[in-house]
Amino acid sequence: EISLGLVGSEMCIRDRIWVKIPNFTSRIQTKLRPYMSTTKYIFVTGGVSSSLGKGIIAASLAKLLQARGYRVTIQKLDPYINVDPGTLNPYEHGECYVTDDGAETDLDLGHYERFLNVPTSQANNVTTGRIYQSVIQKERRGEFLGKTVQVVPHITNEIKERIQILGKSGDFDIVITEIGGTVGDIESLPYIESVRQLKWELGNQNCLVIHLTLIPYLSAAGELKTKPTQHSVKTLMESGIQADILVCRTEHHLSEELRHKLALFCNVHKDAVIESIDASTIYDVPNLMLEEGLDKVTLQKLGLKDTGRPPLTAWNEFVKRHKNPKANVTIGLIGKYVELQDSYKSILESFIHAGAANEVKVKVASIHSEFLDASNVASQMKGLDAVLVAPGFGERGIEGKIEAVRYAREQKLPFLGICLGMQMAVIEYSRNVLGLKDANSTEMNENTPFPVIDLMEAQKTITEKGGTMRLGAWACELMDDSIVKDVYGASDIQERHRHRFEYNNGYRTQLEAAGLKTTGINPQTNLVEIVEIEDHPWFVGVQYHPEYKSTVANPHPLFVSLVAAALNYSNTK
Ligand code: GLN
Repeated sequence: EISLGLVGSEMCIRDRIWVKIPNFTSRIQTKLRPYMSTTKYIFVTGGVSSSLGKGIIAASLAKLLQARGYRVTIQKLDPYINVDPGTLNPYEHGECYVTDDGAETDLDLGHYERFLNVPTSQANNVTTGRIYQSVIQKERRGEFLGKTVQVVPHITNEIKERIQILGKSGDFDIVITEIGGTVGDIESLPYIESVRQLKWELGNQNCLVIHLTLIPYLSAAGELKTKPTQHSVKTLMESGIQADILVCRTEHHLSEELRHKLALFCNVHKDAVIESIDASTIYDVPNLMLEEGLDKVTLQKLGLKDTGRPPLTAWNEFVKRHKNPKANVTIGLIGKYVELQDSYKSILESFIHAGAANEVKVKVASIHSEFLDASNVASQMKGLDAVLVAPGFGERGIEGKIEAVRYAREQKLPFLGICLGMQMAVIEYSRNVLGLKDANSTEMNENTPFPVIDLMEAQKTITEKGGTMRLGAWACELMDDSIVKDVYGASDIQERHRHRFEYNNGYRTQLEAAGLKTTGINPQTNLVEIVEIEDHPWFVGVQYHPEYKSTVANPHPLFVSLVAAALNYSNTK
């Protein structure tokens, strides 16, 4: 605790007279809060192998701490040199997740939001590229006063600053920082060194390191093996960090004897050896961590009050509904990155939330748009109860997407088009209903005779690719007598965006007259955000990405309604 003596008065001189400062005390308190912050920092590192699920462990621990009444956020530090993942192909790095403030980020931030139901921001994802960019800009401005700029201390100082931005905001009691990569990687070293320094500066009672490792099972020997974990903990120690808690990913339960061995050889308390057994769904992990006492040992080590076992009532209700569906529906996901599940992570998770809300199991049938055409669309889409045409960039696979839209429109199959999917719906309607042959987006064909989707005016002078799209939350006004107004139960909404092209308003009168209604627009720019088809039970195309805002606590209403429409379709088949 810090006690502060305030010297001064509540008065100041304004226009030569003494006046009382309005809200003096609360303004002083706001200014001082960051300096009085007693934020605790938890670092999650990974060892032995990648893909162990650090993001899910971080999100699960955060969920438990949040359920105990602590204000928690999670940050991801990524060791690659791209400034952000916005320029990465989904095959490289999975989906690019977008925050309200328009940051293009790692997909783990999606897990953080889905678990915690608290929005993340630009500050929650930092890459090596961004760190170097910022340090180099400072060097160019002469801020280092003639010093040689080095990894230690300049890069590490920048990393430490980025880690503490969220803590100093005063909005959080606990900041969990997930360090991407695996210990021992060359590119992770500056991050690990920064954690070591912060631990030294802030003290062990304010900083905690959780190390997530793999305990492999050798079937020939019929045994779980601890040696890789021992080596990984040792590698971490070579950088000056003793792990406080070990989370052990395993396919089989850890015996008492094995826990004892891990504790002894890795120099941690036995109750700090946490088993993380493979789960059938990521939504089981908070409960598994609760049973293992991960939250309890975390609070103990940070000297925080143990507020008692968190109830997780709403969470458990969701898990129960998710695991006990009363019916099944099959929804086609038409995309060109379908080979890699992570490419459409938020969409797949939104279906899980919406399925639970409807007590329905949503089976997602992934259909590769590149191999879809007029000759096979009926056979490929037979048996579906609804269709979602996915977002995307570039020409590959778009004719398949257009065929899928046509099939959904003609067969009156519930349809949701997201971003590029919405644009394909506009193109399909223009070509096949309005008869505008070869209508297209200028993204695919610059010389199309009917550019029904065109580059946004504001984009025409932009040449740089990184971070220059129309990004983040924008307002949308919903029209009366529309599906969306019903679904949202509101007239003004905010949704997240990531696009350069837009519905060409020059074709709006024709399209509307032919039955493709505009049911949502951006009030400032008149940009068409939503289209619907009049004589179709459920056909909605949205320029924005509803999937980024679906969480366990707040399943997205569009997905909930789409699943309900699919169920309806399946019942009347
Ligand atoms: N490529 C389209 C555009 O830039 C759609 C983007 C998307 O689907 N996210 O407008």
